[in-house]
Amino acid sequence: MTIIKSFIKSVDAIINNPTTLEYPEKREMIEDNYRGIHKLDMKTCISCSACERICPNQTITMVDTETDRGTKKMPLVNLERCLFCALCEEVCPPKCLILTKSYDYERYDRRDYALRPEDME
Ligand code: SF4
Ligand code: SF4
Repeated sequence: MTIIKSFIKSVDAIINNPTTLEYPEKREMIEDNYRGIHKLDMKTCISCSACERICPNQTITMVDTETDRGTKKMPLVNLERCLFCALCEEVCPPKCLILTKSYDYERYDRRDYALRPEDME
């Protein structure tokens, strides 16, 4: 039975391209509660470090960031360590750090998983 199911699945994948081959032109629908890549509004971040302190996996580091208000500490998010628990979003007083629906995780260099504040705007 399992062999027949696998065969049918293989034939289906040959006839209709597997979703992974169609990405990014064709995208799957995602669930309402999906948690994806972070977005930061640098204008409203108050540099309180609450996101860094609550993060259970040391994903966030506060880094010096140039803003029109001078140099401020703002969160750098290392996606390689993120659990997508959304605690950072929950705890952020001005709600300037949020998890989006984006799932564009592909990177050629693993160092690019470290998102500086400017990368999340
Ligand atoms: S989603 Fe969770 S693991 Fe990821 S940066 Fe926020 S608090 Fe840390
Ligand atoms: S993103 Fe939010 S929680 Fe993190 S430092 Fe800025 S204001 Fe504070």
